[in-house]
Amino acid sequence: MGAPFSTPSHAGPGPRRPPRFPRLGERLWLDFVNTDDPASGAPVEPLRDVEDLIVFLEEMGVFDEERAAGFRRRAREQPSGAMAAFLDARRTRTALRALAEHGPGAADDALGEINRILGRSAGTRRLDAHADGTFSRTFVPVGDAFAGLVIPIIESAADTLVAGELGRVRRCGNPRCARVFLDDTRNGRRRWCEMSTCGNRAKAARWRQRQVRGA
Ligand SMILES: [Zn+2]
Repeated sequence: MGAPFSTPSHAGPGPRRPPRFPRLGERLWLDFVNTDDPASGAPVEPLRDVEDLIVFLEEMGVFDEERAAGFRRRAREQPSGAMAAFLDARRTRTALRALAEHGPGAADDALGEINRILGRSAGTRRLDAHADGTFSRTFVPVGDAFAGLVIPIIESAADTLVAGELGRVRRCGNPRCARVFLDDTRNGRRRWCEMSTCGNRAKAARWRQRQVRGA
C-alpha cells in the first residue's frame, strides 16, 4: 500500500474534468452508496482513498475548493488518520446500501451506524454565503479532523429517515445495475437510474421482443 496522496492525478484545481461520480440518486447519501458500483463506468472500486472521497464531496457540491484544499492538506499531514477515516467511510457506505435496498427492515442496523458517527463527532455548524448567491450549511468538526468527511453524508441519510422518504428509495429496474435513487417523481414511477443508460437499454430490449413476436 503506497502513500495514498502521492498521486494527485485527479486532485486539485485544474481544467474541469468530466465528473467521476454520477449525480442521480437525488440525495447525497444515495449518490454515495452508488460509488460502490464498478459497473457505473469505473473499472475498479471508484472510492480507493480519501482523495477519491474528497473529489466525490467536491463534485456533489458539499465542499468548495477551499474546504477540499483544507482536507487535502490535513490528509497529507496525517496520512494514517486519513486512511482510517476513509476505511470508516466505506464501512458506512455498506450500511447505507443495506438501508437503501432493504428499507425499514435494515433501519436498525443503519441507525446503529448513523448514531455511531453522530455520537463520535463534535463540532459546530456554520452557514456560509457563496459568491453565486447560494448558501450552504457546513459541519466544522473539532477533535477528529476527518469527521467532517462523512457527516454530511450521514446527515443526508438521517434527513431521509426523518422525512419519511425511505419508502421512495429504489434500486434501478435493470437487474444488472446496482444504483439506487430516491423516486422524486410525482406519480412515483421512476424505474431507472438514468434514462440514457438503463432506461434506453430496456426500451431497446422491448422493441427487439416486439420484432421477434411480430415476425
Ligand atoms: Zn441503472
